[in-house]
Amino acid sequence: MLVEKGEKPFRAKQIYEWLWTKNAHTFDEMTSISKELRNMLSDNFVINPISIEEHQKSSDGTIKNAVQLFDGNVVESVLIPTENRTTACVSSQVGCSLNCSFCATAKLKRMRNLSVAEIVDQVALIDRQSRSDFNRPLSNIVFMGMGEPLLNFANVVEAIRKITAPHPNGLGMSPKRITVSTSGIPKMIEKLADEDLRVGLALSLHTAIEKKRNEIMPFSDKFPLEDIIKSLQYWYQKTRSRITLEYIIWKDINDTQKDIEALIDFCKKVPVKVNLIEYNSIGDEHFQQAAPEVTNAYIQALEKNGIVVNVRRSRGKDIDAACGQLANKNKLNPIIN
Ligand code: SAH
Repeated sequence: MLVEKGEKPFRAKQIYEWLWTKNAHTFDEMTSISKELRNMLSDNFVINPISIEEHQKSSDGTIKNAVQLFDGNVVESVLIPTENRTTACVSSQVGCSLNCSFCATAKLKRMRNLSVAEIVDQVALIDRQSRSDFNRPLSNIVFMGMGEPLLNFANVVEAIRKITAPHPNGLGMSPKRITVSTSGIPKMIEKLADEDLRVGLALSLHTAIEKKRNEIMPFSDKFPLEDIIKSLQYWYQKTRSRITLEYIIWKDINDTQKDIEALIDFCKKVPVKVNLIEYNSIGDEHFQQAAPEVTNAYIQALEKNGIVVNVRRSRGKDIDAACGQLANKNKLNPIIN
C-alpha cells in the first residue's frame, strides 16, 4: 500500500521498526518518516497500545502489571526475577473459558482472545521493565498468565513468530526460552508441534487419574488422558523436546501412593520432567497444599524411577501474582462471574 502511494519500500520497514522495536504509541513519534506520511498513517490507521494501569511489587521482587487494553479490558502480566534471569509470565486471553476449580482466573468469564500485538506488547513491556529495574533484558517467557494459549492458537503462534524473529522485524528472542503451558487439548498440542516453533511445552496435569482430573478440571472430560498422551508422544516425536508436567499436590485429593504410581505410569509413556508447583490458596478450603512428607514421597518415587523432578517455589504470592492467582483482584472488575 505504501508503494502504491509512491513511497519507497523501506518506509514499511521503518514503520514496522517504530511499532515493534521502538514501541511507538503514536505515528507522530515516528520522526524518521515525513510529516505527510505520518499524517496519512494517522488518517488511515489506529495504534491500539496497551498500558500499565497499575503495578505492584512483591517482597521477592516479582512485579505484577495490570495491563489495560484499548477496549477497557484488563489482563495481568508478571515479571519474575531470579538471580540471573528475568521471566515474563504473559496472558493469552481476557479471562479463561476453562473451569479448573483451583484456579482464580477460572472465576473470570472469558471475554475475548488477545491480539498478536497485545501479546507481543506484554513481552516488550516486561523487557523494558527488566532493563529499567534490573539492568538486564528479559530472558524467558512463559505463557502461563490468564487464559488457555492453545484456545487462542493463531494469535499465540503469530506472536511467538514475532517475538523470535530477528530485529528489526521482531524482538529477536530465542524460542528455546519460551514455554507454552496448556491445560491439555490434544488436537491443538499436535497442531502446535506441526508449527515447528522450537518452543517448550508444559502440561498442567495435576493428577494422572482420569476421574479425579475430570473432577478438578471439568472441561477435561472431553479430552481423555489417553489422547493427551498420544498428543504428547506426537509432540516429542516432532520436536525432540521433553515436556514439562506441572503438578500440584493437594491434601486428600492426590496425596496417596496410588496417585504417585499413576503419575509414574504417565511419565513412562513419554519423555517428561515434573515440576511440583506449590499451591497458592485462592480461598477455597477444599484445596490445601499436602504435607511436606507427601511431596518428599513423590520426589523419592519419581527419582527412583529416573524421572527428573523440581520443586517450584511460588513467587509473588503476597500480591496475588503467583500461578493461578491472576484474577484482577485489586480492582472492581466487571468480568467476575
Ligand atoms: N491454561 C494454561 C495456562 C495457564 S498456566 C494451563 O493451564 O497450563 C497457569 C498454571 O498455574 C497452570 O499450570 C495451572 O494449573 C496453575 N495453577 C492454577 N491455579 C493454581 C493455584 N491456585 N496454585 C498454583 N498453581 C495454580
